[in-house]
Amino acid sequence: MLIGITGTPGTGKTSVAEELRSRGIPVLDLKTTVKDFILDHDDEAGADDIDIDAWAEANTDLDGFVEGAIAHFLPCDKIIVLRCRPDVLMERLAPRGYPEKKVKENAEAEALDVILIETADAFATEQIYEIDTTIINKNDAADRIIAFAEGKLPASFGSLDWSEYVVNL
Ligand code: ADP
Ligand code: MN
Repeated sequence: MLIGITGTPGTGKTSVAEELRSRGIPVLDLKTTVKDFILDHDDEAGADDIDIDAWAEANTDLDGFVEGAIAHFLPCDKIIVLRCRPDVLMERLAPRGYPEKKVKENAEAEALDVILIETADAFATEQIYEIDTTIINKNDAADRIIAFAEGKLPASFGSLDWSEYVVNL
């Protein structure tokens, strides 16, 4: 079974993956799989442009937990979408030394539910579980991810509305 953990940068994918690993659950960092699929680097945006279709085709045999902002482009059995309120997300991203454009673009994408919408386009309702890491700490997030993966929690997503943050960026 392939379980994806996706989300805008700064929503907590790596932190939650570390929490799962500390409990003995392996989690693959998808960043380690993209290097042969980088088309270009956008210096201003501070991001790599990845050939997602070719990458996804080359990674159809993955299993277990995987984390990364492109996890929802894989044929996961279940997909977890981590979320963070845009103003808090900006506070998390600023110390990373990201260009201001990249911080704002990620906060805007989060305010507009971009990754959740991409996920809802690709998966059935019962496959999707959304976690707001603004209010749910990484221990509780890990508990929920395990319970959802084991079928002990029902799917849940779509209750957040951060559209008011778009105008304030
Ligand atoms: P990503 O891998 O999605 O870019 P990171 O895990 O690298 O995210 O960064 C998330 C940041 O937010 C870290 O500094 C982490 O300590 C902080 N954080 C605060 N609350 C949470 C939470 N509930 N879950 C995960 N990260 C959190
Ligand atoms: Mn990460």
